[in-house]
Amino acid sequence: MVSSDPYLIFGAPSIGEEEIAEVDSVLRSGWLGTGPRVAQFEHDFAAYKGVAPLQAAAVNSCTAALHVSMVAARLDPGAEVITTPLTFCATVNAIIHAGLKPVFADIDPVTQCIDPQAIEAAITSRTQAILPVHFAGRPCEMDRIMAIAEKHNLLVIEDCAHAIETEFKGQKAGTFGDFGCFSFYVTKNIVTGEGGMILARDEKHISRAKVLALHGMSKDAWHRFSDKGYRHYQVVEAGFKYNMMDLQAAIGIHQLRSVDSNWLRRGEIWARYSDALAGLPIRLPAAESPDQRHAYHLYTIGIDEDSCGTSRDSFIDRMNDRMIGTGVHYLSIPEHPFYQLRFGWKPEQWPASMTTGRTTVSLPLSPKMSDRDVERVIDAVEASLTLRQR
Ligand SMILES: *Cc1c(COP(=O)(O)O)cnc(C)c1O
Repeated sequence: MVSSDPYLIFGAPSIGEEEIAEVDSVLRSGWLGTGPRVAQFEHDFAAYKGVAPLQAAAVNSCTAALHVSMVAARLDPGAEVITTPLTFCATVNAIIHAGLKPVFADIDPVTQCIDPQAIEAAITSRTQAILPVHFAGRPCEMDRIMAIAEKHNLLVIEDCAHAIETEFKGQKAGTFGDFGCFSFYVTKNIVTGEGGMILARDEKHISRAKVLALHGMSKDAWHRFSDKGYRHYQVVEAGFKYNMMDLQAAIGIHQLRSVDSNWLRRGEIWARYSDALAGLPIRLPAAESPDQRHAYHLYTIGIDEDSCGTSRDSFIDRMNDRMIGTGVHYLSIPEHPFYQLRFGWKPEQWPASMTTGRTTVSLPLSPKMSDRDVERVIDAVEASLTLRQR
């Protein structure tokens, strides 16, 4: 039963020789901090997304990107921000740290993205923003969400942590809302170790975000250590320490160049999984829509104990016994004690998110995986389901 194969790590990054050489040259250059490579990464990422260079700001995480975006937007203290309960805790923590109040709208259980109808139902006189998460790389229904935002005069901040390559009706994720926030964490589709990017429709929002991301020091501070000689900086507000380093951008520049080939490879793995797992009593990801581009970030299956003969958690243990790492994205936010205590939330209030969170498992989906790795995962899924019936 136990495999002699090496452990297949969930979310293994694919790092090429170009990344390694660029990091080496940053280290040798002596300029590790924010500098020319960060500027180039911002420029390249903006070009990839089809926006102006002044509409992009690199930061050190998506969490920072979300936080700074909401601070830069100058929402009223305590204003309500509508988001999904099926997300990483950082989405909700960023709302709280921006002095705002998270309010949930449940997901559509098929797409696992926030349900626009539930957004409308959650709007109050205190609502000032919507924060959709393009879940697993599938776009939210941005036409409907933007129409709701316009009707109620709400700001939109897109959590694009899963959605670097995502498009909805030909438009790229992160360019619909006032802000789009991206992650380059080690398991994401582009990796810089830790890292993030803010896109904003309004260049003024980006220049404020940049000030906030570097202690609140006036714009010129970004060039303070350049060869133009020493210049005094001015602190214009109480900012944060969220800037990206050249050491990180050195990786990101080359990761971005592989983004399409990596996407194609994950697409192949996705298709193979969908084909091979189709006959099993598990829930597979919703069929893709022809007018959408899925980023293929997470391949999430659903393990319902009644139909699968195993609970989600014992399925994960059995996969682990077979040396296959999996992930859970995510237990719904109200499952966690902090949010229950602080807001009085119960998971049952958002049943689709609760049920999805209690049954979901993410299979490995990395461009680094060989065909043999993919077959190992498929075999392990089959074996982990049928174990009880033996
Ligand atoms: C990973 C993730 C984040 C946080 O990204 P970091 O770069 O690690 O801060 C936020 N939201 C979602 C949906 C994520 O998956």
